[in-house]
Amino acid sequence: MTTMRKGGSCGRSRRHRSVRERFSVGKGRRREDADSVTARLRQSNRADRLRSVLDRDGPTCIWCGREFSSIRLPTTDHLVPRVKGGPSWLENEVAACGRCNRSRGHISPVDWLTDCEQRGWRPDAKRVLRALTAFAQAVAERGGQRRARPYLQGQLRRMQRRFPAC
Ligand SMILES: [Zn+2]
Repeated sequence: MTTMRKGGSCGRSRRHRSVRERFSVGKGRRREDADSVTARLRQSNRADRLRSVLDRDGPTCIWCGREFSSIRLPTTDHLVPRVKGGPSWLENEVAACGRCNRSRGHISPVDWLTDCEQRGWRPDAKRVLRALTAFAQAVAERGGQRRARPYLQGQLRRMQRRFPAC
């Protein structure tokens, strides 16, 4: 039914169609420009946020504890993964070395923390708990994040059970 209506409207008037085409091309071009500006902005924001994360947490990987250097560059790691609805907020971001960030993938922070310990690394559990707590506060203040919220609360509960002293 949709196809029939579409075909009917296309065959109705060539002039009408060309106007629509021109309009949609123009719209597409504008959107492309806006996208590339947004991408550039997002990239510079990401670099700024990474600097802020390093200022806040110090120059070490949250998962393995190794210090960053020119051969071990810091990357931005989302505590609540983006696929779980975690936003690119400073409060949801920590610094990790490329190896740890890649190895972690979409594993939850608490599961990954356990993995790191089993590998004999020195993950910064206090930093994880501090970051999760700050993120939960930011969500409470700003609202939204309906997808990330239950995931975050689950992670916080598990961390608090594991580290009641923190
Ligand atoms: Zn690491």
